[in-house]
Amino acid sequence: VLPLLSTPWRLGTLELPHRVVMGSMHTGLEPRGDGGAALAAFYRERIEGGAALAITGGISVNEEARGGPDYVVMTDDSTITAYRTATTAVHDAGGFLSAQLFHAGRYAVGEWAVAPSPVPWRAARGLVPRELTATDIDRTIADFAASAAAARDAGFDAVELMASEGYLLNQFLSPLTNQRADDWGGDHAARMRFPLAVFQAVRSAVGADFPVSVRISAADLMPGSTTEAEVDAFALALADVGVDALSMGVGWHESTVPTVQASVPHGAWIAYGERLADTVHAAHPHLPIIGSNRVVDLRDAEGVLARGHVDAVALARPFLADPELVVRSFAGDFPIINSCIGCDQACIDRSLVFQEIGCLVNPRAGRETEFPLGITNHRKHVAVVGGGPAGLAAADDLARRGHAVTVFEARTELGGQFGLAARIPGKEDYQLTVRSAAKRLAAAGADVRLDARADAAALASFDGVVVASGVTPRVVDIEGADLPNVLSYEQAIRTGVPAGTVAIIGGGGIGVDLAAFLVESHDEKTRALAFEQRFGLDGSAEFARSRPTRALQQPRPGSQVTVLRRAGKFGQGVGITSRWVNVGALQHAGVRMLAGIDYRRITPEGVEVAHEDGSVELIPGETVVICAGQEPNETLSAELAATGIRHEIVGGARDARSVDAVRATREGLEAARRL
Ligand code: SF4
Repeated sequence: VLPLLSTPWRLGTLELPHRVVMGSMHTGLEPRGDGGAALAAFYRERIEGGAALAITGGISVNEEARGGPDYVVMTDDSTITAYRTATTAVHDAGGFLSAQLFHAGRYAVGEWAVAPSPVPWRAARGLVPRELTATDIDRTIADFAASAAAARDAGFDAVELMASEGYLLNQFLSPLTNQRADDWGGDHAARMRFPLAVFQAVRSAVGADFPVSVRISAADLMPGSTTEAEVDAFALALADVGVDALSMGVGWHESTVPTVQASVPHGAWIAYGERLADTVHAAHPHLPIIGSNRVVDLRDAEGVLARGHVDAVALARPFLADPELVVRSFAGDFPIINSCIGCDQACIDRSLVFQEIGCLVNPRAGRETEFPLGITNHRKHVAVVGGGPAGLAAADDLARRGHAVTVFEARTELGGQFGLAARIPGKEDYQLTVRSAAKRLAAAGADVRLDARADAAALASFDGVVVASGVTPRVVDIEGADLPNVLSYEQAIRTGVPAGTVAIIGGGGIGVDLAAFLVESHDEKTRALAFEQRFGLDGSAEFARSRPTRALQQPRPGSQVTVLRRAGKFGQGVGITSRWVNVGALQHAGVRMLAGIDYRRITPEGVEVAHEDGSVELIPGETVVICAGQEPNETLSAELAATGIRHEIVGGARDARSVDAVRATREGLEAARRL
């Protein structure tokens, strides 16, 4: 099915059966203190699902290398013990595990942060990193070497040096962050000295037969940072000193160019890795180059290999979403795959606040020991009422473990809030979640009834009920809210909004999504082109943010849309990684966003608001859309409570204060295990 991906290759001395790599993700499971049980289960499940080589999240090479309080140090006994458990599990499952050796440098969130030069980053909140002395630098090089030796002792099959995404090795390379006047700074040759010294020390520590790869920044996406020629020079220098593979990264954490969000077109940045591969292969034709970034579907990865530049493709988040990504893809069973939707809500957003990561579409991710798989010996008949994210998560888990599941969905299609979200430009992949859940339910023999309501009487014969009846848009108490030009967000998304001016009441996550629905193209190819033009991704791989752009047709001029908010941030409730991108896209499109107002009344012409200074303004709105939250659908739960039928309430039906799909799917899984 995927002929190029399924050919073997070598990473140094490692023989790998296919060209899909599970890329590095910081999981937050590392410091659990469980002897590595959670890590072992996490990696084993993915190796059993077909990943041949997985790369761990960053493991710090010393205390000051830690990115935050939840990072572990490779040379600590507890770390070695935990990873010995993980590597044993991976080997038992027939795979390989590579340790990513990591130094956060100035990105460390703690007073221990160090850097080539005392240059804080934009989210450092006043924390200025300490400049490494020459002695510190020698010690850090030795710590990398000691960590590599410890990784080998812990049973790892390879190590990857993190020299991308703006971490310490990358910081030494960049003139933005390396302003040293000694031998470790200066021109690019001098700035390369530290990462090359690290590589050579690591090589000496582990020997020539132990694979060492480097994750290299193919583009920093930071104005004034390392140039394309400098990226090439570093890659070639690594090749000259015997690196076993180069894996591409792109973009620093503080870059204002999106690289990982749902709105980033699939594979958008891979051209940078391809260009790098061409440069390296011209001198070192057999050095593997691993492409990555926003590759979600292995058919796309196959297409990347078919273009003939990179040698393998690394994916990370798609392995959180579906541990069986590889076996399912190689079997051609694509519709059943639980695709990563790029939301970042349970993975990157959580890791940024030092929480264990999970996955919105796979709530078992990171919790494999807590929710083991296995067919039940006590088969129950369970009804799930509501086919939105929470209900589907519950039904999926129950059916997979052998319970008899009946899903009642009042609409003619599954999906609930996900069905709505999938109509928002950039969120089309949400539909894949619904489709794959439906496929898995069908494969497990679940009875899915559409256009089917269930009351307490109909549910009395079941052993248990999951109430996932969802939410209804909230009706606001504003004069004129019953006028014919007023729509709920659900009506607007399902039936569309007539041409003309639009005022959106409510600027939280749904209000921002609705504005995107109105002003952004619903055609993915058009949007991909707009993305490339906006961010200078023109194939030459040279970052030029202010490059002139050809005007692209928008469905509605941004100037016709106003988002209104009484107080708070626009897009409040949207994850930290996505909010700035989503709100920025609306600003770029010319949407007016107005906060600090009071609603006076709605008229056929728009919304009359009062500003803080007391002045009154009519916001044009031939259509007014209410995005002011939602109410739980509680009728069924109230009925069931009165009858004593065993039931669990999940998702929006349980708490509609904020639509939180991560919570919804987690509750679905937890309810499935409680029943
Ligand atoms: Fe993908 Fe969202 Fe899951 Fe992260 S939480 S792996 S972005 S689906």
